[in-house]
Amino acid sequence: MVHPPLTGQADAHRTAVEVTPPLKNPIVQRFTHPAKKGFGPAGAPRNMPVMTKVLIVEDDAAMRARYAQMLSADPSFEVVASVGTGAEGLAMVDLRKPDVLLIDLGLPDMSGIEVIRHANQNVPKCECMVVTVFGDEEHVLASIEAGAAGYLLKDATAEAFLAGIRELISGGSPISPIIARRLLKRFQGEPAPVEPGATPDGPDVALSAREKEILLLASKGFNYPEMGKLMGISPHTVTSHVKKIYRKLAVHSRGEAVFEANRMGLIRTL
Ligand code: CA
Repeated sequence: MVHPPLTGQADAHRTAVEVTPPLKNPIVQRFTHPAKKGFGPAGAPRNMPVMTKVLIVEDDAAMRARYAQMLSADPSFEVVASVGTGAEGLAMVDLRKPDVLLIDLGLPDMSGIEVIRHANQNVPKCECMVVTVFGDEEHVLASIEAGAAGYLLKDATAEAFLAGIRELISGGSPISPIIARRLLKRFQGEPAPVEPGATPDGPDVALSAREKEILLLASKGFNYPEMGKLMGISPHTVTSHVKKIYRKLAVHSRGEAVFEANRMGLIRTL
């Protein structure tokens, strides 16, 4: 009377165990099917980019918040600390060992260059990105010498900001090639060319008033549609002026164009 139901329960139990054999030895399962578990040896999710640890050092709290907000748009970035002084920056470099250091140069207690130098010496994997205002080329050169690999403008759009950081961590340097060249010459002990005519394009470059106006607006961070609106011309016309500027200055980007025009004394934005 009692036997049939008991046998039935036992069978049901046996069947349940048989269809889930890996449960008997979860450790073996973990090591034989790591991909199925979805985690690598360090606990990082597989089939996803490894998290990039970002340290923000900037004394302006609003800017810090803005950077963090822009970074939050990309789940592969993790802000590991966001601090407002150089001293805290130095400590966080040591503690958090970031992959990317976003660094302001004008900090209340020291130059951001100190933090760059410290990161460069103590956390070799850390890529340093200076976030600065336009017209700070001299400091940028000094920060590159200290180990910075790139620089962004403080008023960069979220798109440009993220693109710059991605370029940085993929081994690129979001820096004007012209600045890189100047830096190289400096390391080689040659003075950077400053007099007009030092480059083949120097003496003959003549920018129209429109082109100079566009360069000045570009240097202030306006995009093409904004420039068009300010100048009362279409974005398309702005683009065609920009192409002419690039050709005249023998450059390939807005940053290079502004830098080169400044260097040649064609515009004065510094
Ligand atoms: Ca500052």
